[in-house]
Amino acid sequence: MGEPVAIGALERYCADWGRANQAVEPACEPSCAVKGKVAVVGSGPAGLTAAADLALMGYKVTLFESLHAPGGVLRYGIPEFRLPKGIVDYEVGNLTKLGVEIKTNVLIGKTITIDELFAAGYEAVFIGTGAGLPYFLQIPGENLNGVYSANEFLTRVNLMKAYLFPEHDTPIRIGKRVAVVGAGNVAMDSARTALRLGAEKVTIVYRRSREEMPARLEEIENAEEEGVEFRLLTNPVRLEGDENGNLTAMVCQKMSLGEPAASGRRRPIPIPDSEEALLVDTVIVAVGQGPNPILLQGTAGLNLNKRGYIEVDPETMMTSIPGVFAGGDIVTGAATVIAAMGAGKKAARAIDQYLAEKEGSPQE
Ligand SMILES: Cc1cc2nc3c(=O)[nH]c(=O)nc-3n(C[C@H](O)[C@H](O)[C@H](O)COP(=O)(O)OP(=O)(O)OC[C@H]3O[C@@H](n4cnc5c(N)ncnc54)[C@H](O)[C@@H]3O)c2cc1C
Repeated sequence: MGEPVAIGALERYCADWGRANQAVEPACEPSCAVKGKVAVVGSGPAGLTAAADLALMGYKVTLFESLHAPGGVLRYGIPEFRLPKGIVDYEVGNLTKLGVEIKTNVLIGKTITIDELFAAGYEAVFIGTGAGLPYFLQIPGENLNGVYSANEFLTRVNLMKAYLFPEHDTPIRIGKRVAVVGAGNVAMDSARTALRLGAEKVTIVYRRSREEMPARLEEIENAEEEGVEFRLLTNPVRLEGDENGNLTAMVCQKMSLGEPAASGRRRPIPIPDSEEALLVDTVIVAVGQGPNPILLQGTAGLNLNKRGYIEVDPETMMTSIPGVFAGGDIVTGAATVIAAMGAGKKAARAIDQYLAEKEGSPQE
């Protein structure tokens, strides 16, 4: 109605206040698990939310996560300076208080299949495995030392304490000059993380203009304020290295913009004879992600859409396999935390309804 309000900051204040004053204590003891067993696969915001709601409804929930720590992108993707890990720990701790059993280091589809979950007595399964498979540039030199996908880079830093190398096992190579390819939120997070790891010059390289940059304006402005440089209308064509296989340069071509493509964004067109070499120690590729494939490959009868994401009935969130539900990025493609949480809530209600109907059905 009136002036815009800083809704994100207001939400943050409420959540911080609630945590500090224990205003959102879980309302269910482990002994309240009186209904059947439900398995939740993936501990990102979709899985965490589905697990919490199902536990509150009285189900005995087991949450399976392939990595060694729960939280999904909240844990391994979004950097500490934007989402402190203490908040993720607190939310995960609340799940444990609700009686949810969390099993990490379990890759569903390989270690245990969906069929085996049903055989073990789970009556329904929720899949929230996310869209964490990084896309690459498909240009020569991508295997050189010093080239990371944003996913690997952020995971090494967030989850594997690479920033503390050599005190911790995982190394991270940063050097002085870092180029980040792509201009979405993940690219901004990677660039700002590289600065915090000590890079002297961090450059975002993007093949379209500022107008087409997919990152939120706030993320772009934050990156600019911190000193990240932007090289727009520039596209990498090859990466070059020394005799030891270490990255030394990224050769780029200048671009102009043509007519809008099917996506609505103007199509980048290479300008002939415009190649130039950027001297770099590290390149981080942040050009998007696809569906995590392992569970999908190991599960017969699970229908996928043209883009390789799980197809669900939009009303019930049920997949083509009866009793198997899905939500979050693995259904929509890379989206937002709140959308994934919404999907988790919707699926929990649908699972409850499905199991109640199954229970009441004379055929079952
Ligand atoms: C760097 C980065 C920054 C972002 N910043 C924001 C932001 O500021 N705001 C915002 O709203 N959104 C942001 N997003 C997007 C948001 O994080 C995602 O949309 C959201 O996390 C999707 O939630 P999800 O539960 O569907 O999947 P995910 O968070 O991807 O979680 C999926 C989980 O499933 C696990 N898994 C995968 N396969 C298996 C298997 N076979 N067995 C067991 N476990 C498995 C994965 O290890 C992972 O832990 C960001 C994304 C990234 C990558």
